[in-house]
Amino acid sequence: MSRYALFGQSVAKSPSPQIHTAFARQTGIPMEYVGIDVAPEALDAALDAFVAGGGRGANVTVPHKEAAFARCAQLSERARLAGAVNTLRLDEGQWYGDNTDGAGLVRDLTGRHGLDLRGRRTLLLGAGGAARGVAPALLDAGVRELVIVNRSPERADALADALGQPGRAHTRYWEDLADIGDFELVINATSAGRHGSAPLSLPFALCSDMTAAVDLNYGDVAIPFLAWARTARLRTIVDGLGMLVEQAAESFERWHGVRPQTDAVYAELRKGAPEPATA
Ligand code: NDP
Repeated sequence: MSRYALFGQSVAKSPSPQIHTAFARQTGIPMEYVGIDVAPEALDAALDAFVAGGGRGANVTVPHKEAAFARCAQLSERARLAGAVNTLRLDEGQWYGDNTDGAGLVRDLTGRHGLDLRGRRTLLLGAGGAARGVAPALLDAGVRELVIVNRSPERADALADALGQPGRAHTRYWEDLADIGDFELVINATSAGRHGSAPLSLPFALCSDMTAAVDLNYGDVAIPFLAWARTARLRTIVDGLGMLVEQAAESFERWHGVRPQTDAVYAELRKGAPEPATA
């Protein structure tokens, strides 16, 4: 049986083992997938031990995505653009790295939620690993303008520079949020609200009747942003649960060459987390 794992910190409650175990059962591929909690300074040794024990591939989450990127001998173009890796595959003894976050988000929004992203003026809050993963995919999906706003403005600038489309993808300061107009898509790619930090406080001036609000977070961390979107009476409010399932399916395909069906797995996870629009 081949071994796969999620490397991160505080991954005990992650649904990823449940998702990949369901994919393996569905496709008939014998694999084990476990969560491995590891501190940043111990990641290298943990990956080596994993390979020695038969590990063939892994997902990587906060705070290891940049370190995983640095470990890779080969990278997909989208991982290179993101500067962060969430999927590792062992190819002839060396790590190949990919970033499936952007494809996962776009597939969830367009496929599951039926959103047409083309032409949308889009606000991306955050410039960490997740934001860097989804930004190129949003541009590829045809958003008209991508305004990146991050608490630390220099990280937003670095992301905009890496995207290399100054006419379409550019930055503003957090303090500008009250007067930068409204958006057809607002995406929360921050981790605000995690580990007891204060949730985001956002102006309603960002919204119009047409705005869709998307949080990459799910569960308790997503509650404040989703509540803000409900108070603004937005019709389309999406949390990160579908993206989680879709990015996992994309990783599974990188490892096994087979794309699993995601609807049943998503429905099962959704039982424990009510739809954002009706919660
Ligand atoms: P990182 O740690 O790389 O980045 C965190 C980001 O959040 C940075 O932009 C940071 O700003 C910002 N931030 C943190 N706290 C605050 C705050 N109090 N106010 C404003 N901004 C803040 O994390 P990731 O980018 O990897 O992940 C972001 C979130 O997305 C996580 O909560 C993660 O769980 C979720 N996620 C969900 C996925 C899914 O499949 N649904 C996939 C990937 C991520 P600064 O640069 O100033 O520190």
